[in-house]
Amino acid sequence: MSSKRNLIHKLISFKVPQLSSILAGTLLLSTFTQPLFASEEVNLYSARKEALIKPILETFTKETGIEVNLITGKADALLQRIKSEGKNTHADVFITTDAGRLYRAKTAGVLQIIQSDVLNSAIPENLRDPEGYWYGLSMRARPIFYVKGVIDPKELSTYEALADAKFKGRICIRSSNNIYNQSLVASMLAADGAEKTQQWTNDFVNNFARKPKGGDRDQIKGAASGQCDIAIANTYYYGQMISGKKIDQKKAAEAVTIFWPNQKTRGTHVNVSGAGVTKYTTNRKNAQKLIEFLATKKAQQWYASANFEYPVRKDVAATDLLKTWGDFKADTINLNQLGVNNAEAVKIMDRAGWK
Ligand code: FE
Repeated sequence: MSSKRNLIHKLISFKVPQLSSILAGTLLLSTFTQPLFASEEVNLYSARKEALIKPILETFTKETGIEVNLITGKADALLQRIKSEGKNTHADVFITTDAGRLYRAKTAGVLQIIQSDVLNSAIPENLRDPEGYWYGLSMRARPIFYVKGVIDPKELSTYEALADAKFKGRICIRSSNNIYNQSLVASMLAADGAEKTQQWTNDFVNNFARKPKGGDRDQIKGAASGQCDIAIANTYYYGQMISGKKIDQKKAAEAVTIFWPNQKTRGTHVNVSGAGVTKYTTNRKNAQKLIEFLATKKAQQWYASANFEYPVRKDVAATDLLKTWGDFKADTINLNQLGVNNAEAVKIMDRAGWK
């Protein structure tokens, strides 16, 4: 059943039989007056902003004839919406950012397993759910940014070393209720264990220059304005700032540069935006087609560059801007583990007084 017809089916499933049959007659009539082959469609709920995804969806439609009905919103609100819509959800595909959130969607029971050789061969194993509930579609890193001329990069090495007392009062980072930081601590839990991670978090929080506030861009701005010497942020924010039209942001970004931590150990912490097919879709075939399309070389090139992110495919190169930041070794932990460790990471951050 096409999702439009399914929607009509849902609309007419009232408990008043007469009204429903009248409605059915009217609505079905209007459906079938449309061209017969125009009914191929797929409904996408996306936590990515429309401008950052719509053009590639239009390419998908051009190539497949499948229309994409796009609903965008904040990540947590969209997940909540799919949850509360339950079996009546109109969403066929859910796209969101951060493996921690993808894991939440999986454990909330709103996704289903995708069996796709296309996706399994395109997307590295660590950037997708081991059971196939979600697949990473673009990659971002969360490195250290330092103020040029103030910090000698020789002073930097690992995330772990940021707990050193020499960095007291010198670090800007956003609050602990942000999923990016929770996922970072979750990755440290996997690498260092609970005891060491608790100690690290306690000491790291002691080194904060100020009470956490704002988003990732604000941490880079804080460093540029002299409030701190080191900031933690996702790479795409830096990319947006440095190539955007907002002069203050551009200047702030130019005052700092990237240091890739943990290059001699596990690698820099990375995360993804990704997608899954909803559990209650009635349109699984087109849902899977859309995700497989987003994993093609062409889509990867566009999607990653539009978002200042790294492609997840190894056979697609990063943009020239991202290449200027240098190659780095990424942590290869399976990102599902970030979700598994999330609750413990949050507890550790709370105990350390990370606001
Ligand atoms: Fe973000």
